[in-house]
Amino acid sequence: MLNLPKLEKNELRKEFAKDYKSYYSTKLFEEEGFERRKCKECGKNFWSAEERELCEDPEHTPYTFFKDKPKSVGYVEFWKKFAKFFSDNDHAVIDRYPVVSRWRQDLYFTIASIQDFQRIENGAMGFEYSANPLIVPQICLRFPDIENVGITGRHFTSFMMAGQHAFNYPKEGYWRDRTIELNYKFLTGMLGVKKENLVYSEDVWAMGDFSEFGPCLESFSNGLELVNSVFTQFENVNGKAKELPDMVVDVGWGFERLMWFYTGFDNAYDAVFHDIIEKSKGKLSFEMESDHFRKFAKYSSELDVTEKGSYRDKVRAILKKTGITEQEYERKVKPMQAFYATLDHSRTLLFAISDGALPSNIGGGYNLRVILRRALGFMSEYKMGLGLMDMAEMQAKELKGLYPELEEHLDILSKVIDIESKRYEKTTENAGRIINALIQKREKIGKEQLRTLYESNGITPELISTVAAKEGIKLDLPEGAYEDIIKGDFAEKKKAVRVDLSVENFPKTEPLYYKFATESDSKVLHASKNYIILDRTPFYPEGGGQEADHGKIGGHEIIDVQKIGNVIVHIAKGDIGKASELKEGKKVKCLVDIDRRNRLMAHHTSTHLMSAASRSVIGKHAWQEGTRKSYDKAHIDISHYDKLNEAEINKLEQFVNGALLNGIKVSIEEMERGKAEGEFGFSIYQGHGMPTKTMRMVIIRDRDGKLIDAEACGGLHVAGKEYAVGMVKIINTSRISDGVDRIEFVAGNAALDYFDREHTQLSSAAETLNTDMFKLVEKEAKLKEENAALMKRAIEKEEKLAGIMAEELYSKHVEGSKKTELSIEIDEPRETMRRALSGLTKKNEKLLVLAKNGKGDVVCVRGSASKKSALEFAKNTFGAKFRGGGSDSFAEGVVTN
Ligand SMILES: [Zn+2]
Ligand SMILES: [Zn+2]
Repeated sequence: MLNLPKLEKNELRKEFAKDYKSYYSTKLFEEEGFERRKCKECGKNFWSAEERELCEDPEHTPYTFFKDKPKSVGYVEFWKKFAKFFSDNDHAVIDRYPVVSRWRQDLYFTIASIQDFQRIENGAMGFEYSANPLIVPQICLRFPDIENVGITGRHFTSFMMAGQHAFNYPKEGYWRDRTIELNYKFLTGMLGVKKENLVYSEDVWAMGDFSEFGPCLESFSNGLELVNSVFTQFENVNGKAKELPDMVVDVGWGFERLMWFYTGFDNAYDAVFHDIIEKSKGKLSFEMESDHFRKFAKYSSELDVTEKGSYRDKVRAILKKTGITEQEYERKVKPMQAFYATLDHSRTLLFAISDGALPSNIGGGYNLRVILRRALGFMSEYKMGLGLMDMAEMQAKELKGLYPELEEHLDILSKVIDIESKRYEKTTENAGRIINALIQKREKIGKEQLRTLYESNGITPELISTVAAKEGIKLDLPEGAYEDIIKGDFAEKKKAVRVDLSVENFPKTEPLYYKFATESDSKVLHASKNYIILDRTPFYPEGGGQEADHGKIGGHEIIDVQKIGNVIVHIAKGDIGKASELKEGKKVKCLVDIDRRNRLMAHHTSTHLMSAASRSVIGKHAWQEGTRKSYDKAHIDISHYDKLNEAEINKLEQFVNGALLNGIKVSIEEMERGKAEGEFGFSIYQGHGMPTKTMRMVIIRDRDGKLIDAEACGGLHVAGKEYAVGMVKIINTSRISDGVDRIEFVAGNAALDYFDREHTQLSSAAETLNTDMFKLVEKEAKLKEENAALMKRAIEKEEKLAGIMAEELYSKHVEGSKKTELSIEIDEPRETMRRALSGLTKKNEKLLVLAKNGKGDVVCVRGSASKKSALEFAKNTFGAKFRGGGSDSFAEGVVTN
């Protein structure tokens, strides 16, 4: 065990450096004559074959790998070279994992290749791998640097981490000597790095919470960090560093970076997207003129927004250094930056949507929408001449040899882009007005404001600059404009449990519900307030969207059950703390409400069926986002780019009922995690199941044994009681957010209840209306028609009456009088008063007339030739007693007493 005051990177650096022979030196360094030195500039320890004063950190060493005549290489072709090197050196080559991190529920997306193999169980990290050692062409998505993408020449939102991993050392795998030997061979052999230009810097790598960490060696050449070889050697045990029993070599080769170095282009985008850029050239509305861009690109890494300083100042400095004018920058450099960014964004969207993510305003989908909008903004600003779909199609084609699945998902991507573009257009229509108001104020726009603008109006920072530029205003956006807009990689924590009781000192509650028990004699371990803890329980605690069992414990009504850690807490209806039958140590009878249990199970199994139906009817992208299984209904939320239509809803119902009518078989199997993933794929993490060493798999097959659905799930299902589901009826669908549809349905007894209620309602309505239940629609149409005719006649009569009244009022109050202001009492409803008064003012247009009825309703109308105010008249007549409103020509209200 390392002895450290605290787990902190600098402490670890010092500690590892003290004993560098154990943590950093390797056989290869000895054999090839690499010696340990200290950088004069940054103080880092590094190893090099030749005497040198500086390490190769780009902070103080400029890039020197650009070639005058870069050599292009295809993405897939380059991967094949890479893969051959490692398979020649005894590594298995495995397929990539999805970019949507379904098996790590604390992350939205896959952000590193090692994540493929990590499984968190009870807060501890374990590894699951199909070969050892291995390499994997893992596409990763990261969004924090979004503003740099397209600009700095080296940032991407999607990139391949070509993962080289060896697990379980010293029992299997390999350690530092072999890692660095392979690293050296690959870099000097395949990548053509000169030995004298190769530098290995010593550093420390750690998980964010220091749960795992270890020394690492970073390989640098010509100012570029080529790869970081991480040796995960320690874990954090109560703040102390303890050596892991199974250590892991984690080398995440940044594939884009390697291509960049290998080809020698002046920016990574030209290296990575070379063939696509070539194909695009004729179609783009601007010229891919590289002279200005090339001059600019030499320094563009200085534009990293995460580095200090104003972005505009940094640009100005580069323009000065390169002699590029402001105009040339606007016309020749910026469109290319936008094009590069869009190429990256199109590829990210292609991978994300292929793997089942969708742009939305929640979770990981939020970041996808941000980049989609950024890309659409660039498209419209620079009139690119190529659409996002054109780019995505080229990407899919280019990557086919490595990722053939991308082409299959182009049509769904196209639908998503279509819908999102329409939304974006709507946004920009309103945006002009909002942004104009903002820039007229000439205030500095802060990050907080930028976030509000994006979240409430969908306005991206670029859109603000564009609109401002159109107005001829140069607007300085804050540095790191996207910082507050973009969501971090980590998913938000789930809601806290609402039990106000500390359970630390209680043993694990033995669950009896998995054996389908509905009653037990249990020992009371604790009872206070309305909480009961037992040694064992048949009560299913709320979990995985399934509501808790209800029932009775020692005669007391139980209305909720929660699991906290391994302890199950029963929540009684009232305060039972002093009940004698619940004294600590006593045995009590537990009885679960069986009807409720059966309904919850029927709803849970039918939710799995609905999930399978969604993937079959709506598409592979229809992942489950949330569920609820209650007593009287259930719902499932699925990700989908559009509102479900009638035909889709019918198909979903047919799928589920078709399966049920044909007969289903539900089985629950304990399976090794690796086996379950291999057999059923990652859709087993569809719902709420967490990857654990052995998984509780709920498998639904049809009568012939054909698989319908398989999910890791901790809920209760109708295994052996499949008949209890009966049938399923969708009772409602709604769009709960713009990437998610909610399907509400009823099954089993709840379905019967539903039909019963429906029938009662309909037959009672039919009886009242004196018709047959199935003729209600016709009857309704007929009634509507009759009603309309009656209304029409009533209005006609009303008008006639008002006409007569107007005549009467005229002869009584107006004829022969010179008064132009009149106050009268009429005992008629407001509607009639209105009509009568307007008839009167038509007969004498100079008249202003006010009427009041016995209920205190007041109406005041002004003739078209009068210059007085109706509202003022009403107010003056009744003072504060008048409650109402209106205008100069008409007013109404009530007079209160
Ligand atoms: Zn240095
Ligand atoms: Zn489930």
